[in-house]
Amino acid sequence: MSDLPPEVQEAAATALKRMIAGTHCIQCGQEVTHFVQVGRSSYAEPCGCRQGQMKAAAANTRRLETLLKQAQAERQVLYNELYSWLMSESAWEICDELRTRFPALEAVRQKEQEDGNL
Ligand SMILES: [Zn+2]
Repeated sequence: MSDLPPEVQEAAATALKRMIAGTHCIQCGQEVTHFVQVGRSSYAEPCGCRQGQMKAAAANTRRLETLLKQAQAERQVLYNELYSWLMSESAWEICDELRTRFPALEAVRQKEQEDGNL
């Protein structure tokens, strides 16, 4: 592997990652919406490239598992950003309703302010 040119190694690593993730075609790199079984091979939709001899059902499951993991990671980022914003003064200035809707959060924010963490 180390004798191969760097660009070939990189392409192989990318193809391997895509194969593991199951979200992109391993031939052309286009995003896959689902895999279909034709005989013993599976094909990626919408590009139509052959993905080799693997079960389309398993590939579809793997794709969804990857997407779920990505969605969970995105949700965590969104949650962190939202929490940071809610801890800021401007959030409470813009939306006074926050005080009545999230009394526990306001208590935390006030405590953080008193402790000098904000
Ligand atoms: Zn393709």
